Amino acid sequence: MNISNSNISALKPAVLCLLIFFVVSCGKKKKSYDLLISHVNIVNIASGEIEEDKLILINGDSISQIVDAKAIENYKAEKELNANGKFVIPGLWDMHVHFRGGDTLIGENKNLLPLFLAYGVTTVRDAGGDITPSVLKWRKAVAENKMAGPTIFTSGPKLDGENPAWPGSISVTNQQEAAAALDSLQELDVDYVKMYDGSLSPEAYYAIIQEAEKRGMKTTGHMPLAADFLKAVSLGLNGAEHMYYPLKACSPVADSLSQLNLGYGMMETLIDTYDPQLAGEVFTRMEENEVFITPTLYIGKTLAEILEVDHSRDTLLPYVGKGIKATYQGRIEGAKRAKASGSQMRAKMENISAKMIRPMQDAGVKILAGSDSGAFNSFVYAGESLQKELEALVAAGLSPQEALATSVINGPEFFDVLGRYGDISRGKVADLLLLDNNPLKDIKNVHNVFAVVKSGKVFTRQELQAMLHSLAEK
Ligand SMILES: [Zn+2]
Repeated sequence: MNISNSNISALKPAVLCLLIFFVVSCGKKKKSYDLLISHVNIVNIASGEIEEDKLILINGDSISQIVDAKAIENYKAEKELNANGKFVIPGLWDMHVHFRGGDTLIGENKNLLPLFLAYGVTTVRDAGGDITPSVLKWRKAVAENKMAGPTIFTSGPKLDGENPAWPGSISVTNQQEAAAALDSLQELDVDYVKMYDGSLSPEAYYAIIQEAEKRGMKTTGHMPLAADFLKAVSLGLNGAEHMYYPLKACSPVADSLSQLNLGYGMMETLIDTYDPQLAGEVFTRMEENEVFITPTLYIGKTLAEILEVDHSRDTLLPYVGKGIKATYQGRIEGAKRAKASGSQMRAKMENISAKMIRPMQDAGVKILAGSDSGAFNSFVYAGESLQKELEALVAAGLSPQEALATSVINGPEFFDVLGRYGDISRGKVADLLLLDNNPLKDIKNVHNVFAVVKSGKVFTRQELQAMLHSLAEK
């Protein structure tokens, strides 16, 4: 067929229009974001499924969109990170840490914040200390993106009895003081209530739980060993820190021991009389009442072995300030005294705690990953210790998927913020941990951090390492 000249000239404007349309539309079509992470495998901790080769688009502190990495030509961002086949999980939550040691250690406590980030811990729950004004300042600065560090939830001061064991705690001996203490905690706008059993009476302990329940405040912590754990559960207790307290309820001789004023002296008997069937009933009650448990297995092991393990060459020791390092001596002295007295408590406790994990999980009890890192808790380093806690949970019988859920799903669930956390999807906070390998295959893979994203800001491996080195120079 012949095309006439007039036909060609009629086509010319049409071709021109088409060309202009393409140039303009292509320019317009590239949607712009603050941060783009390409070629990443997204690990869903709840389902265990992996979405392969994705593109995560982030604006501000939130995930805006997730698409196939193939569509990358349609997007651009101020900052782009090619993950090149790496795996991404939500940033880790450490549900039991401490900022403490008095005003002279405020600077050293603040230096722990980048340490958490370097190990992929993007949220921490501070379980009470004596530098609350500083912790509240950091909580605000991180929330406003003015400081690099994990999101902080804090209990503020602990509640204890007369002559509290830890400095900064508030003394509560009766119902009236419980109400006054909670007034002052509400004034500080703390995130939950932490109880401690230095000298807290069972009556004051129950009173705090009841009063907090009325106000909609969450309670967790230690329990006076003369108290009844299941009674506390029925009054509205939200969590237990460490395994001692549920353990007590798992012994048929618990009630008779309560009368003897033995304190932790009753622990070996409790362990020896642990009744798996009774334990099953206790765990069911915990599940029914939505009581969380923070087992803190790794610190248990660290303290049980403290006299046998040489920590002088720990890779993280240089990153801990010398004031905090000095507080580590206390646990060593304590272990020496325990050894001299022939106490087998710590070693036995480590054993029974690990044994209780699987039945608790099977009963549906929500386990929380918490390290107990902080001043006075020797050689349990901020950030790294949470990764070790996940390993300890797997060693105790959880799958890597279940262990990760104790941190990235149960953590936000404790604070009722699963709407913004818990998985990597549109609208969730961009707190991410990118790993070289799939952590569902081997929990040890959490150690190989490729990058961390905190509230939409990316820290590459090199940047995290530089952050650590600057700490060692301090
Ligand atoms: Zn603690």
